[in-house]
Amino acid sequence: MSQHTDVNKYGEFGLIDHLTKDFKPRLPSTLLGIGDDAAVISNDKGYTLISTDLLIEGIHFDMMYSPLKHLGYKSVVVNLSDIYAMNVRPTHITYSIAISSKYSVEALEELYAGIKTACDLYNVDLIGGDTTSHLKGMAISVTAIGVTSEKDNIVYRSGANAGDILCVTGDLGGAYLGLQLLEREKQIFLSNQNIQPKIEDHKYLIERQLKPEAASDAIAFFKKVDLIPTAMIDISDGLSSDLMHICRASGVGAFIEEVKVPMSEDAKIMALEFNMNPISCALNGGEDYELLFTVSPDEIEKIQFMPGATIIGEMVDRADKLTLHTTGGKIYPLEAQGWNHFEL
Ligand code: ADP
Ligand code: MG
Repeated sequence: MSQHTDVNKYGEFGLIDHLTKDFKPRLPSTLLGIGDDAAVISNDKGYTLISTDLLIEGIHFDMMYSPLKHLGYKSVVVNLSDIYAMNVRPTHITYSIAISSKYSVEALEELYAGIKTACDLYNVDLIGGDTTSHLKGMAISVTAIGVTSEKDNIVYRSGANAGDILCVTGDLGGAYLGLQLLEREKQIFLSNQNIQPKIEDHKYLIERQLKPEAASDAIAFFKKVDLIPTAMIDISDGLSSDLMHICRASGVGAFIEEVKVPMSEDAKIMALEFNMNPISCALNGGEDYELLFTVSPDEIEKIQFMPGATIIGEMVDRADKLTLHTTGGKIYPLEAQGWNHFEL
């Protein structure tokens, strides 16, 4: 134990692999342990899905621009998103907080008002949690649970095949650009407190960052048209990084067509204002919480008319790796540049 290896050596995903490599599921009821958006446990009458997230003040949220009500809402929604990403409806959450004395009861009431709004909208019950003290800020841990009686409806990251169609819900890059905007206005405000933030013109981007929604409509649509995607993940780290998770788990490659990647006009304009390439924001910006999924080519007509969904590419053989086909006709290798929390 005298060694001191820097956690940056592994990166987030490498570190998880390293720490958990000796924890192979030992019970027959553990259908799936570590490695997907949620774990799957089988019980007498069905299957329980469980996913958990930890959010730390100063790393995942900034009190300068996260209203507590929004934070409560977002912290629930991003967790529910992991259950939806398995094609299952979430049913319950537990919510744990560590808080310093700088937070008043009124502040926490705001947080819980946001939690309540999310529970009402997504129809889930808050069933427990834990409350403890924190030396200087706030930490939040949310666990989301979903149940299903149909094992075959559960969609993993690992089911994609070469030839499958690659689709995404909603639009991408907005949450990242909303964050850039909030950060810029924060810096301006810190340097001169008389200047009020100019964010009213960019409501959509700010909302994408502070009040994201989980893609529950997509799950309802799949059920309605009797479609089970072959693989699925929610886009929390960025399109490139999350597509790489599907490719790794499924043992396939993929290409994305740049021209097809959906972005809002607001996001494109804001990217240019920040001197960024819009497509990089869509590929590498995180926290959009849209669903990235693959569909067998036999089912293409079911997806062509899916509201808000876009076909952005195709899965290919592993040997063909992950590439971006640019509008200018070039082919670039895609690299995952998702959030590395240790480098923040
Ligand atoms: P997501 O972005 O969908 O929340 P993560 O990348 O956080 O997923 O986690 C990937 C997998 O690793 C999940 O199965 C998660 O439960 C597991 N995992 C993450 N951190 C730990 C940890 N400290 N110990 C055990 N398992 C972990
Ligand atoms: Mg996820």
